[in-house]
Amino acid sequence: MRLRPRHLRTRLALWYVAGLAALLILAWAGTCSLLFWQLRGQLSQFSVQEIETVEGLLYFTPNGRLLVRDDYHNHRESRDVIERYVEVLGPAGDLLYRNQRLQGRMLGGPAFAGEGVGGYSPRSTRLSDGTRVRVVSRVHVLDGRRLLIRLAHSEEPLFERLRDLFVASLVVLPAVLLGAGLAGYALARRALSPIERMAQQAREITPANLHARLPVDDNDDELGELARVFNQTLARLERAFEQLRSFTSDVSHELRTPLAMIRSVGEVGLQKEGSRAEYRDIVGSMLEEVNRLTSLIDSLLTIARADSGHIQLHRAPIALMEMVRASASLFEVLMEEKSLRLQITGEEHTHIHGDALFLRQALMNIVHNAVKYSADGGVIAIRILPASDARVLIEIEDNGPGIPPEDQPRVFDRFYRVDKARGRESGGAGLGLSIAKWAVEAHGGTLTLESEIGHGSLFRIALPRV
Ligand code: ADP
Repeated sequence: MRLRPRHLRTRLALWYVAGLAALLILAWAGTCSLLFWQLRGQLSQFSVQEIETVEGLLYFTPNGRLLVRDDYHNHRESRDVIERYVEVLGPAGDLLYRNQRLQGRMLGGPAFAGEGVGGYSPRSTRLSDGTRVRVVSRVHVLDGRRLLIRLAHSEEPLFERLRDLFVASLVVLPAVLLGAGLAGYALARRALSPIERMAQQAREITPANLHARLPVDDNDDELGELARVFNQTLARLERAFEQLRSFTSDVSHELRTPLAMIRSVGEVGLQKEGSRAEYRDIVGSMLEEVNRLTSLIDSLLTIARADSGHIQLHRAPIALMEMVRASASLFEVLMEEKSLRLQITGEEHTHIHGDALFLRQALMNIVHNAVKYSADGGVIAIRILPASDARVLIEIEDNGPGIPPEDQPRVFDRFYRVDKARGRESGGAGLGLSIAKWAVEAHGGTLTLESEIGHGSLFRIALPRV
């Protein structure tokens, strides 16, 4: 059986009632004990005063009997006094006097060592019938004889008072707790009502209406803060959904173009009889499109794995110059076709610690762009510069068309192409720079761009040495 109430407001009210009950019981017990100790102290105090009165009333008869003078009895106080429990013992513990009220019962048993010597000894005890009494003893010398006077008050009225208080609290406490519980429940319900509204609103938010937001009643309180944080999360989700949507539509678009090309080339080829050389041409163009598709799918896979955080970098020492030369050499044929000049400069022995596969990919994407977008006869310079003890710079500069300032912040976005027609014609889907940026940043580095339209572009990779 589940005892925990489902609603927070019920749990809060119950906690409140439990806390209040504990406090009230503690306060009640504290007050009663204090009261009891004080009243008992007062009883002892009265006994002390009354012992002094008794001392003045005691006398020995000529035949040696100890009595209390009764010519004093018409004074109310003295009558009261001798109506307390009074007992007087001799030096040997022998009973010399016991008043009527004791009805033959002993008041406190045999004297203990030091009882009533040098002051008053208060203590609580019971008479033989169980009556609780507060006894005060004192040694008194009368006619040269040492007497131990004991005087007691009943503690029963005190205990009765306590009992009455307890019974009263049995009625009052539950009533107070019930009232407090109901008030607490109403308060908790009211304080938590914005959460219910938020939950209702949140329930209605689906991918189709991610623009909806939770109501923020009071910006400064905790619930306002919760709604604000939730709304910020929704905004991030909405952005992520938006990116995903446009990514999916971009991907479909990019896949459709080469497929359409393959299809149309195939259809044209099938329409008429051709020579062997013509068929070779057709298959060649189809393969070119297939290559384009393969590299696009490779890029998409890299992006998908990077996004899901499934890529693990396998770091090892990398000789930078070697990597730069190897990456650039892949584009030798293209450079030759466009009569581009390549200059590689920098320190031969610069090493960094990283994943050679992804860093080479980043470098290749940037160098490939420089080759693709440079005009015939251009110059591409790759420099390795030690920026500081901790960082290394690799600069890839071309004197191509440059990138307009308004496009510069977006060239690292997925599927972004400055000139759509020019990009596709040269085979790019607008993914190269975004993959390069991801790879560099995964190594703790940065990829930045400086470019001036008509003068060329400079891509700068900064990587930590270790
Ligand atoms: P793509 O595969 O289209 O080259 P990238 O992400 O590599 O995609 O580059 C994004 C866009 O940035 C390119 O379409 C191109 O318009 C522009 N760009 C990149 N590098 C250069 C460069 N060196 N010179 C001029 N434009 C460039």
